[in-house]
Amino acid sequence: MKRYLHGIHVAGHKSTAQMSAVKLPLPDSVVIPMAMHIGAPAKPVVKVGDYVKTGQLIGEPGGFVSAPIYASVSGTVKKIGEMLGSNGRMMQTVEIESDGLDARWEGIQPPKLETMQDFLDAVRASGLVGLGGAGFPTVVKLTVKNLDQIKCVIINGAECEPYITSDTRAMIDYSFDVIAGCRLLQKFLKVPRIVFGIEDNKPECIERYRELVSHEQNMEVMSLKAMYPQGGEKVLIYHVTGEKVPEGKLPLDVGAVVLNCTTISSIARYCRTGLPLVKKCVTVDGSAVKNPMNVLVPIGMRMKDVFEATGGFKEEPKMVLYGGPMMGIAVPDLEQPILKNTNAILAFGEAEATPPEPTACIKCGKCIAHCPLSLMPCEMETAYKKGNIERLMHLKVNLCMECGCCSFICPAHRPLVQTNKLAKAQVMAYKNALKAKAEAEKAKLEAEKQKEAAK
Ligand code: SF4
Ligand code: SF4
Repeated sequence: MKRYLHGIHVAGHKSTAQMSAVKLPLPDSVVIPMAMHIGAPAKPVVKVGDYVKTGQLIGEPGGFVSAPIYASVSGTVKKIGEMLGSNGRMMQTVEIESDGLDARWEGIQPPKLETMQDFLDAVRASGLVGLGGAGFPTVVKLTVKNLDQIKCVIINGAECEPYITSDTRAMIDYSFDVIAGCRLLQKFLKVPRIVFGIEDNKPECIERYRELVSHEQNMEVMSLKAMYPQGGEKVLIYHVTGEKVPEGKLPLDVGAVVLNCTTISSIARYCRTGLPLVKKCVTVDGSAVKNPMNVLVPIGMRMKDVFEATGGFKEEPKMVLYGGPMMGIAVPDLEQPILKNTNAILAFGEAEATPPEPTACIKCGKCIAHCPLSLMPCEMETAYKKGNIERLMHLKVNLCMECGCCSFICPAHRPLVQTNKLAKAQVMAYKNALKAKAEAEKAKLEAEKQKEAAK
């Protein structure tokens, strides 16, 4: 019998769950990064002074694993520059001064969809990336060698992170697009089974989808226990299919593809209208925010403009995050823009932003007991402190999905997830160094062989 993976129960704080997204007034300008996805950054195809319209291409994909970038407002290209992203890397940006008209580019038209390739081309052209998290280009996820590989597509409607409700709103407010997107998957990718995985703390959403799928073929709704991290890809796959994704393998290796609910509705919208991903529904919340709400904003709108347009802060924010409090990323400043995969921006005051002082590990084992992947965070912390990379690899630190359950549950407030991130980087650097050394030795041997042969 299928059982649940470990996890934790966290307070939901979903105060915006009943709030449909409010369209905010356009900002004076937007700053659009060319790297909002995993893979090669896009390359700008506009120059300073160009007039662009909403939906017009401003950055072409930089490779197969990449995505096009489109203007999210109409106006004049003011600057092509660089900014420090929240991931600590510099990224190229295109700044557009809005003319306030949001004039749509004339070239926008629905794509012609006759074949599977037409469909994949449309997904590529839409600029869609996984909207629930990492920003992996959607077309790459859907490009499979053999369609028989896909046994099940799981629509991720878990939204297990506290505070965030933008996906749930997309599920409810754009339900017909979500279903239309699923029909496209059935038609062009011959997907035999589609499952909506929704946490049981969203009864309105479950009810809506049970009604909708009752009119569809091979679609079903699975009510999942509300727990964190229910929306983690491997966790969701296990709870829906009973399959564990083996180490070093992809979801497709167990026949599964997971798509975020907003991603699937955006695919349908693009196929219906031809308008690429230029606007985003974002939850604005946190203890420092005056008026928590869901908003619809152009990609590239600066955080400071979003917060200001929602009424600003009720106390000085001490920590601002992209995403939720469990897996979110702290931003260096409020100049950071809304990205394609931004689902929430949260601002917290002093009390929430100040973590308790860590004390010594009491060897209670709670971090192990609550890790969904059955890892040993306390042991990994010890190995990291000793610089024992072999041990870190043995403990499989690379599998850590950085969900934060271990840190959350630790009574000694050890910064376990932060240590894991550092340890993963250390292991990666070690492996890269080994690889480089092996390649250098191989090249040396090759050169010696050629020298010998030339004698
Ligand atoms: S952050 Fe990593 S080690 Fe900690 S609970 Fe999550 S998967 Fe396990
Ligand atoms: S939960 Fe914290 S105190 Fe308990 S074993 Fe893990 S690191 Fe140590």
